[in-house]
Amino acid sequence: MGNKIQYPKPNTLKNFRSKHLLAALALFIGTGLLIIFTSLQLSNANPSSPSSLKPHPLPSTLAQWQDSTNSGDYFSQVTTTDVGYLVWSQFPVRVHIKRPQLINAQQAQIWVDSVFTTVQEWANYLPLVIVEQSEVADITIERKTPPLEIGKDKIPRARSALTRYELYTKNNVLSHRFTILLSPTQTGNYLLAAARHELGHALGIWGHSSLPSDALYFSQVRNPPPISPRDVNTLKQIYQQPTSLGWSLSRHT
Ligand SMILES: [Zn+2]
Repeated sequence: MGNKIQYPKPNTLKNFRSKHLLAALALFIGTGLLIIFTSLQLSNANPSSPSSLKPHPLPSTLAQWQDSTNSGDYFSQVTTTDVGYLVWSQFPVRVHIKRPQLINAQQAQIWVDSVFTTVQEWANYLPLVIVEQSEVADITIERKTPPLEIGKDKIPRARSALTRYELYTKNNVLSHRFTILLSPTQTGNYLLAAARHELGHALGIWGHSSLPSDALYFSQVRNPPPISPRDVNTLKQIYQQPTSLGWSLSRHT
């Protein structure tokens, strides 16, 4: 049951112009894959068949990283997903910064430059490249109001940013792509902090730090910190974890 499911090709997404439809479709694909993957895992329970969750080689940028300050990490706060840790294995990771259309050219350039600064910061630890076309991007960063967050008290609240991912397969390899929405309310240092923080999520830190001195601290702070040694220690830990991403989905029977 369920082992003949066709995965939608990523390029079919391109044909849809409506943002809402795209979002709905992305959600659908993600959910569908998660359910399908669960059944694959169950059928792979035979210990003689290789696990579909395995680590990739550590990228040299992270392999070379040594924390001389021994600051520790918050790896225990990072959650895995149904497909394992959200690590990239094809480098450089392709980042698209969508140029804002609703503000004047000068403001748009300031926004793009700010986001670009944070891409450069993370590029010290993982190979990243800017791509001009969103169709080939692994991570797309947009200046757009995220949907309201409905809290437990049912009161909708504005979000300063939102990062989401979707799964797809290409040549039978399970892949993921991220979309980061940065609220137009974020400017200056807050924009830098939000972009830095959300990029951390998109690079695999799927969790939060409890210390305000880390870029992945769960809340906004008055003086946002740069990427901290604890952020990088955590990232390095994550990239040694098993994942299904970047590996072939073929079943071992
Ligand atoms: Zn966050």
